[in-house]
Amino acid sequence: MPMYLVRYSEVFLKSEPVRRRWESILIKNIKKAAGDCKIRTDRGRIWIEGDVSPERLKKVFGIVSFSKCEHCNLGELEKYVLEFCEDKIERARTFAVRVKRVGAHSFTSQQKAAELGALILKKFPHLKVDLENPDKEIFVEIRDDDCYIFDEVIHGVGGIPLGAQGRLVALFSGGIDSPVAAWLMMKRGCEIIPVYFDASPFTDHTTLKRAESVAEVLREYQPNFELRVVPHGEFLLRAKEVLRRRKMENYTCVLCKRQMYRTAEAVAREEGAKGVVTGESLGQVASQTLENLLVLDEACSLPVYRPLIGFDKLETERIAREIGTYERSILPAKSCEAVPKKPTTKAKLEKVLEVEAELGEEYGC
Ligand code: ATP
Ligand code: MG
Repeated sequence: MPMYLVRYSEVFLKSEPVRRRWESILIKNIKKAAGDCKIRTDRGRIWIEGDVSPERLKKVFGIVSFSKCEHCNLGELEKYVLEFCEDKIERARTFAVRVKRVGAHSFTSQQKAAELGALILKKFPHLKVDLENPDKEIFVEIRDDDCYIFDEVIHGVGGIPLGAQGRLVALFSGGIDSPVAAWLMMKRGCEIIPVYFDASPFTDHTTLKRAESVAEVLREYQPNFELRVVPHGEFLLRAKEVLRRRKMENYTCVLCKRQMYRTAEAVAREEGAKGVVTGESLGQVASQTLENLLVLDEACSLPVYRPLIGFDKLETERIAREIGTYERSILPAKSCEAVPKKPTTKAKLEKVLEVEAELGEEYGC
């Protein structure tokens, strides 16, 4: 049965009860991702036994890195190391043995590394030791009488175990930004409830399909990442009517977003979520100005998290590529036809409130 040694970090920095809680959330999340497997923990490490896909482990928040390893007892270490090297070290010219130890032993880590290095050299005389820049590294972790041998450290996504910080509602359009924003909060331990506002007839099924397709990618990080679709077109039609009469069409986007914020807050309160996350970035499009964000915030009494606020578009795109959402976010989709020619960059709250008073009870404004 393959065995994986899993390293996690931030869990360590916490007090004992927090650490235990985070650790148990991490283990639950690993079980969900890895399927049928056995999990064991010991002093800051997790071991998984089973046929686990490394690709899935790479998407579990909280895992800093992991290694596929061989396990043996201290008495058999030499034999196992030599066997391990047989298929691994063939093509290398130089190598190094790195030993880490936990527990009381009659040798130091360096002594054991030198001893194992000498044995390897004897069996594979074509090799040379190079501690600085070896072709191949053989790692040994000794924990009391248990030894773990591996040659590869695979980087995980890091962060905080998903769910350790509670839940957030995400305004999720499926464009490039909001999936990255949601993912960044997931990385900080927040489980996401993604809400998509369906603005048909101003958008159509292509826009919804794109959002669903991007959500599918994020489901690999959070298995219950299920898009909630809220009809938004009727509100927009009505809002546009009132705005046209008042010659305030340039306020369409601000009114549209405020309604999204309000609905997100209602969903959050229903679900016990502690805030809302959006993909806004200061100044990225004309409508994302300090003035407009101020007016948007007024529509929602929960905290609104905007992890992209200081990002350049290129920085956001880089993350989107890394996490796998980019390709789907750029799928052709109808852009919103409710957007006016010149959306306001300086929304005034008093004006917004007047319009919303007219829209009235019907929309909970
Ligand atoms: P994105 O790339 O996330 O679509 P954007 O750069 O196109 O963002 P806007 O259209 O101004 O910017 O939207 C700002 C934010 O409002 C989005 O990041 C998202 O959080 C939210 N949002 C916009 N449209 C929708 C929608 N149809 N459903 C849910 N949320 C939305
Ligand atoms: Mg968008």
